[in-house]
Amino acid sequence: MPAYYRKALFISEVILAAYFLASVVLLLFTTGAWLWPPVVILAGTVICILNIDRMNARVNLVCFAAIIGAWLTWFVHRFGWSGGSPNILVPILPLVFFNIYEPPVGKLIYSFALVAFRILLFAWSLSHAPVEALDHTDNLVFQILNSVVPLLILTVDCILFSSSIQASERALTINNQELHREAGTDPLTGLPNRRALLDEIEQFLHDKPDSQFSVAIADIDFFKKVNDTYGHNCGDETLKALATLFMDAASQKYRLCRWGGEEFCFFLPEMNIDDAGREMNDLNIAVRQKKLRFRETDYSVTITIGVEENDFKSTLEQILDRADRKLYMGKVGGRDRVVI
Ligand code: GH3
Ligand code: MG
Ligand code: MG
Repeated sequence: MPAYYRKALFISEVILAAYFLASVVLLLFTTGAWLWPPVVILAGTVICILNIDRMNARVNLVCFAAIIGAWLTWFVHRFGWSGGSPNILVPILPLVFFNIYEPPVGKLIYSFALVAFRILLFAWSLSHAPVEALDHTDNLVFQILNSVVPLLILTVDCILFSSSIQASERALTINNQELHREAGTDPLTGLPNRRALLDEIEQFLHDKPDSQFSVAIADIDFFKKVNDTYGHNCGDETLKALATLFMDAASQKYRLCRWGGEEFCFFLPEMNIDDAGREMNDLNIAVRQKKLRFRETDYSVTITIGVEENDFKSTLEQILDRADRKLYMGKVGGRDRVVI
């Protein structure tokens, strides 16, 4: 049984037990008689409370409803349809409706059964005179008890259930955001992945279809050599170090992602090819000058970058393709350069 439901059942049954105890004491004073049925019902409630963890939610709920039904039947038999006693049926409903183990049909059956029980009991009370009548004061006290107790249980249950729903929704939203973030993140470098950057460019194209932008694709030169010379771990550390350098350089000016392997893609909104070329040139120099160190060994790498701008005719795929071809030209032309 879910923790919030157990808590609601527990509190409801404790309030109910307190209500029965108050009624037993009250009736002892007013009638002067030791009435055993309410004592038995009170004992049943206490047994239910003590065994709450041994019974599943369904059995617990049946016991809760049966206890209330027994109490009301006895009360109507003894004192007639007085003191607002039928109100005590109401707290059964929230516990039925928020019981996740009860299918909708079961919930409907419970509701109909409650209505039918109430009507039948009322009809029965019309044709059977009560054993005794409550005097004015007792009637008033029971009216108060039978108003306060069901409303109290109802309030507590509704607060518990609604805060549990709110907490679940909050957790779900946070989980979704986290999942979404993870799905768009490259696990090695922590940079956005290709999908995430493409989504961002497409969003930009959608929001600002008339705006200029450029893209650039960078590839580490002779990266295979880094792996072969210093090991794959060194290669990984190099990728992470360059990712950090790129992120710092990008600041708010442009966005980037790990395009795949040892390639990175840059998206430079509101920049033509000259602006983007200048940015990429700075980056190219920064990488060349970056001193890398892995296990006491100093080394450095260079990158080749192909830059392309939006010509307002081509698709994003075609623009990226042209940037890739420029990158290839840069490789053929000797590497460590920016081709615009
Ligand atoms: P070029 O200048 O022509 O780009 O030469 P290159 O050696 O960089 O290019 P090549 O495509 O021959 O090799 C790329 C290497 O990048 C091969 C691959 O093992 C390595 N690589 C790709 N992804 C990772 C990674 O996540 N970690 C490490 N350590 N290496 C990677
Ligand atoms: Mg490559
Ligand atoms: Mg390479």
